[in-house]
Parts: sequence; structure tokens; C-alpha cells
Amino acid sequence: MKFLSDFKYKDLQNKICLLRVDLNIENENIQKDNLRILSILPTIKFLISRGVKLVILSHRGRPEEKLQIKIQKFNKFSLRPFAKILSFLLRKPVDFISFNELGLINKTKQKIQKAKQGSVFLAENLRLFPEEEKNDAKFAENLASLGDFYINDAFSVSHRKNASVVAITKYLPSYAGLLLEKEIKNLDKIRGLARKRGLIIVLGGAKISDKIVLLNNFQKLADYFLIGGGIANTMFAGQGLPIGESLYESKMAPFAERLLKSLSKKIILPKDVIIDKRKILDIGPKTIEKYKNIIKKAKTIIWNGPMGYFENPKFAKGSQEIGKAIMANKKAFAVIGGGETISVVSSVKCQASRNMFVSTGGGAMLEYLAGKKLPGIKALK
Ligand code: ADP
Ligand code: MG
Repeated sequence: MKFLSDFKYKDLQNKICLLRVDLNIENENIQKDNLRILSILPTIKFLISRGVKLVILSHRGRPEEKLQIKIQKFNKFSLRPFAKILSFLLRKPVDFISFNELGLINKTKQKIQKAKQGSVFLAENLRLFPEEEKNDAKFAENLASLGDFYINDAFSVSHRKNASVVAITKYLPSYAGLLLEKEIKNLDKIRGLARKRGLIIVLGGAKISDKIVLLNNFQKLADYFLIGGGIANTMFAGQGLPIGESLYESKMAPFAERLLKSLSKKIILPKDVIIDKRKILDIGPKTIEKYKNIIKKAKTIIWNGPMGYFENPKFAKGSQEIGKAIMANKKAFAVIGGGETISVVSSVKCQASRNMFVSTGGGAMLEYLAGKKLPGIKALK
């Protein structure tokens, strides 16, 4: 795999780059979810400063097929608002390539070719074309015809076999962007360290079924799984404990029960919880203390999934205390990931420190950590 950071200035000059990023952010989260936007800026600036013309590609949401005609009404699927946001952050115009313009590839190509060095374009949501999720070769070839080379800087989508992530690499010289490089190097680092010095996994969030790769693949390597959130509730249900109307996954309760039997020494469940209106909504103070003590001694930590319903400040304490404890352990190396987990981290105003890496990948991070080969990364090799 070749990294963008290895390129010399003159290798890139005057070229047109197709840059795949992840701008899959909901309207409500545009303000909050700034890690995702900010983390792609280094690659964009790196390219612009070398006189490269950029065509930024992304998806947004999961529009149904045949929705294309109605796109104007469904602005939650349009990437148009991000042209303005990027333009503000980059302090330069960002030209939007609409759905119709993407259909008229030759005309759009001319427009890009006429633009001056360092110009930036943002293309409309690629998932408005059903071919994107089908990894369609013809669609990828058409897209590829817009540029001279391709950069994947969308780690969080690299586990998806989509045209702008996988098929496109057949038609253009393809490299890893600065963000993808950082993700790969940090996740490789934690995997290496975990093998040498043990590992603590803090696991919360909504569904066990989303996190199963982690539970299955780290049974040997992890010393402890500290469990919270809906995952803990599902495990309680698996043990036959009453959980009232708490968030849990009933179909996963038998799996949880088996897992608890086989890993009884490693899986640590909350010993007290915060309950409101018949719902378990956070881990309790004794549990926080216990988890903090384990985190304090850890040398390698992975954290995915909040400990409770942290969106309500009344139930955010568990997640925030875990976040603080991880940050306070300067001797450990920690990787933190997952869409909601990252919001917790920003809410405790953590400074990204050297002992910690905040990953932009949710599902992709879990799969990569578990040792799976991600199609988007394989395609760059
Ligand atoms: P991530 O995106 O970080 O991987 P998930 O998507 O798995 O995390 O889960 C996050 C969601 O789970 C949050 O919206 C949070 O409110 C919810 N959650 C966690 N624990 C509970 C709980 N006990 N009750 C209700 N919701 C919970
Ligand atoms: Mg989530």
C-alpha cells in the first residue's frame, strides 16, 4: 500500500484527485460531530497546497432506490450543505457537483479540467446511485474518468464493498490518505501492544450484535471486558435477571448467556445501576469505582460504546467517568471509537493526547481490530 504522505511535491502538481471521505453526518449532528469533518482537513489541505484539483466523494445516509427524482425534498440525503461548511473551513470556494451533473460525466469532466490548480469540488451523495452500493464496475469507471488518481481517506467506510471504495481502485492509481494512514498505524499499534502487555476492553452501547466481532475475537487476548449500556442489560437478561423496560436485545440473550458461562472470569458486569422509570440507564457509583480501578492499572485499552443513556446528562456520569479514567492513565495506550462514544469523549473535553487515539471508524474499527481484512484497504494493496 502506498501512502499519500510518501509523495513528493512534484508528483502531484496539476493532477486531479478523487478523494473519498466520510461525510455521512445527520443534520442534527453537523455541529456536534465535528471530528469527522475536521479529521479530513489535513488530507484536503495537503493536496490543495500541492496544486492538486480535488473532487471530494462521499455518501450520506441510506436513500432507497428510485428516490433520486425526489432528492430535492429529501435534503437529509444531500451533501450540498457540506460544500458551504468545507468552504468555510478551507477559506476557499467549494464547487458542488449536483446529481444531474454527475450523470453528465463528460461535461462535468470539462468543468473540472478548466478549473484552476487547487480548486475543490464536492460531488453529490453517491448512494443516490444504486450502483454505488453494488460496487458496480461501470459506475466506478465513469467516476474514475473524472480524475488522475484516487485517495481513500474514509476508513469508516472501508469495510463496505462500495464502488467509490473498492471498484474505483481498478481504474486509477490508488493510495491511502493521511487519515486512513493514521487509523491503520494506530490500530496496528494497539493490536501489537495488546499481544505483548494485555488488554482491557470497555464495551457498552446499544446492541451486542453490533459488537460481536470484538467479543468473539478478543476472548483470549483481553484480560477483562468491562461491560455497560444496553450490552450489560442483554447480559443481565441472559442471566435471567429482571431488567424491566431497559434497552436490550432479546434475540441475543441466549448468546449472552453462553458467553457469560464460557468467559465468566473475564466479563465484568455492573454491580450497581441507575434506574429511572423501570429502565436501567447508567452504571452505578460502585461500578464506576471498580471499572476505574481496573482502568488505572491497564496498559492497553479499547473503549467502544457508552455506559448508559448519556444523551441525558442525568445518565452521563458512567460514560464520562470512564472517559476521564482512560485519559488519566498516561501509561496506557488507548483506542476509543464508535459514533456515540466519540461524542462522550468530546463532552469531557479531552485533549487528544499521545496516549490515546480517537478513531473515526465505528464498525470498520471493530472489524479491523478483530483482524478482518477490510475490502477498501485490501483494494489499495
Ligand atoms: P457507538 O456508536 O459509540 O458504537 P452505540 O451506537 O452502540 O455506540 O450505542 C450508543 C447508544 O446507546 C447511545 O445513543 C446511548 O444512549 C445508548 N445507550 C447506552 N446504554 C443505554 C441504556 N442503558 N439505556 C438506553 N440507551 C442506552
Ligand atoms: Mg452508534
